[in-house]
Amino acid sequence: MATGATFDVLVIGGGINGCGIARDLAGRGYSVLLAEKDDFASGTSSWSTKLIHGGLRYLEHYEFRLVREALVEREVLWALAPHIVRPLRFVLPHHRGLRPAWLLRLGLFVYDHLGGRKRLPATRTVDLRSDSAGEPLKADYVRAFEYSDLWVDDARLVVLNARDAADRGADVRNGTAVTAAGPDGDGWSITLRGAAGTETVRARMLVNAAGPWVDDVLRGALGRNEARHVRLVQGSHIVVRRAFDHDGAYIFQNSDGRIVFAIPYEGEFTLIGTTDRDYDGEPHDVAITEEETDYLLAAVADYLAQPPGRDDIVWTYSGVRPLFDDGASKAQEATRDYVLTLEDGRGRPPLLNVFGGKLTTYRRLAEAVAVKVAGAIGAKGRPWTEGAPLPGGDLTIEAAADLAGTLAEAHPELPSALTERLARLYGTRAWQLLEGVSRAGDLGRGFGADLTWREVRFLMDTEWARTAEDVLWRRTKLGLFVSGEEARALDDAMAGGGDRASAAA
Ligand code: FAD
Repeated sequence: MATGATFDVLVIGGGINGCGIARDLAGRGYSVLLAEKDDFASGTSSWSTKLIHGGLRYLEHYEFRLVREALVEREVLWALAPHIVRPLRFVLPHHRGLRPAWLLRLGLFVYDHLGGRKRLPATRTVDLRSDSAGEPLKADYVRAFEYSDLWVDDARLVVLNARDAADRGADVRNGTAVTAAGPDGDGWSITLRGAAGTETVRARMLVNAAGPWVDDVLRGALGRNEARHVRLVQGSHIVVRRAFDHDGAYIFQNSDGRIVFAIPYEGEFTLIGTTDRDYDGEPHDVAITEEETDYLLAAVADYLAQPPGRDDIVWTYSGVRPLFDDGASKAQEATRDYVLTLEDGRGRPPLLNVFGGKLTTYRRLAEAVAVKVAGAIGAKGRPWTEGAPLPGGDLTIEAAADLAGTLAEAHPELPSALTERLARLYGTRAWQLLEGVSRAGDLGRGFGADLTWREVRFLMDTEWARTAEDVLWRRTKLGLFVSGEEARALDDAMAGGGDRASAAA
């Protein structure tokens, strides 16, 4: 079906980069269509370590531009989405035989002072013999450095950018693949395939933000014979039963020069990752290998007095970094910086390819894309995202911390663990989710853990959730807590559009 609709820009890919670009451009006044073939954040953007960080170890690779931009961006993103972003202190134990203490201290001094740190506390030296951070560690570790970075719910960061793009006028679609694109006059004719069938639209410019699939889009939809720009680097994580009691995180150095994080996760767990290995398969099929599992368990066993074993693993996940192939020999040395390549001129309509990047720098990447778009099809608007909160984040950092208490006071009929979770996931939008609720029964049918039809419906109506997997593994992480049977019941209820769910309430 040809709708004939014409857009200024069509963005391919609903990961953090595509959603951030669509939001930025829509807010400047461009007409935008964002097409994601599966679900928002179903690619790399939900498989990250979930840190908003400068990247301490990139200093060793002299990536000062990237590290500085990322450091500055930490507090910007914290203020824009204080419900899904939280500060975290990282303990870096000094390991005799690895990097010397003076080098760690110097690196952290640079990290503290390279830019942008206003609210986050500075680095301090920790005596592990007396500090609670030392309790879970082996007695050999006596000294550590503790520094600040932030944690973010990566999949929610993506969907909130999509939500805001739509609120600002973008046509935002998941379940919609770009299958073909060819020049058509001074723009592009693009074929989209979605649940409702095939559709053809026009756009003056294409932005290829397909992450690990950037080259596939070039070869497939655009019919290029040759496209080898992306270096796929696999990173895997294991989630184990809580390995230590305090709320801080660890950054452990490994004898191969790499580092491994151990981070408190979803209350009852510890997230351990990541690895760095070249990958040449289909990105969706990536899965942790036995060797990577052994590597991660061994890395933490070097430090923790009571390290987790294989039996403590409750979940694993793996993703591929879509890095720009700069010819580095080792996967861990390939640049983490983003690269934008604009193809236009000689009668061809403009195409911009996005390579690399990090969650942390997605907003700056989107601003850089907007400059390229302005050059190619004409400027609209001005940079605007630095001070514009994401949906649900329109409150101060202090108010975000108090929101769970305020919600609990207004809804004494609900368990405080639920109001706390809703405040953390939805920020001020939690009020909208709970509108009209005066008794627990108003939330409708339960699907395990504390998930109810009210929340599921909210996610279907306002966040494009279509399946149990969207709800359990991306919009929330309740998949860690519900059974397979409960997940299937949720899938059935969502497929039925809610009639069966309401009837069973
Ligand atoms: P993706 O999220 O993969 O999005 C691309 C999307 O394009 C996909 O959803 C895909 O379905 C869609 N698509 C593909 N083809 C088509 C098509 N034909 N039509 C429509 N849609 C299509 N960064 C940080 O800042 N902090 C971290 O702690 C961190 N940790 C990481 C740990 C690991 C293990 C990995 C792998 C990465 C980590 N990163 C981190 C980096 C960050 O996750 C990525 O840079 C970022 O998610 C890439 O986003 P993207 O939008 O480019 O790609």
